[in-house]
Amino acid sequence: MVKYWQLAEKYGCDVLELNFLNEFGLSHGLVIKKGGQDIAEDQAYRVMSRRRRIVLPTQVHGCGICRVDSMFDKFYPDRVEADGLMTDRNDVMLTIHTADCLPLFLASSDRSCVALVHAGWKGTAEKFAARAVEAFCGEYGVNPRELVAAIGPGIETGCYQVGPEVAEQFPAEYVRPDASGRWLLDLRNANRDQLLAAGMKPCNIYVSDLCTRCHSEMFHSYRREGKLKGKMIAFMEVPDD
Ligand SMILES: [Zn+2]
Repeated sequence: MVKYWQLAEKYGCDVLELNFLNEFGLSHGLVIKKGGQDIAEDQAYRVMSRRRRIVLPTQVHGCGICRVDSMFDKFYPDRVEADGLMTDRNDVMLTIHTADCLPLFLASSDRSCVALVHAGWKGTAEKFAARAVEAFCGEYGVNPRELVAAIGPGIETGCYQVGPEVAEQFPAEYVRPDASGRWLLDLRNANRDQLLAAGMKPCNIYVSDLCTRCHSEMFHSYRREGKLKGKMIAFMEVPDD
């Protein structure tokens, strides 16, 4: 059986790595629960930041992607409001928080620049993934056909019930009615299709089938827990080499 992900003990916490990205030599991960215990975020950040400067945005469910360049430290000494980060610096680690929303890992296949995107239903409805690819390719002069992307663990269609006010913001192919008369939303395919529409090749896109709501031993889930006790930390960085 093909193993699509693996657990690594990194930075003092449990980290899920996607083998698809490992095959491209891309340094990334998702900090998850350790033995079912909540993620100690402060501790995780403290340990991770010994390695590199951590960039931690304040997420607003928008479509802003911030370039972390040489001027970043000067103009953003604290936190930046954004749901996406991109960089070609090899001295920073990009991070975002997710619970049921999708973490989208993006990189040029030569590993010279990387991006991390947080896509919930709002960002997905506004085609954030496609806009992020466009911004990334524009900033770094990369052809979308040379991009690699992975959509990490998030909520699956069967677990993601939404009301009509959300469902109506999506094309019919991504919503289906459930037995209770509400709708189920397919965030994964909506985002995958946006990456394709932005010019990416199907073989360069991986979509994780791990559902954050089903796997309580590994993930926090807003839909399962309601008031969250913690969130996962997705991270990505330009490799040292
Ligand atoms: Zn599920």
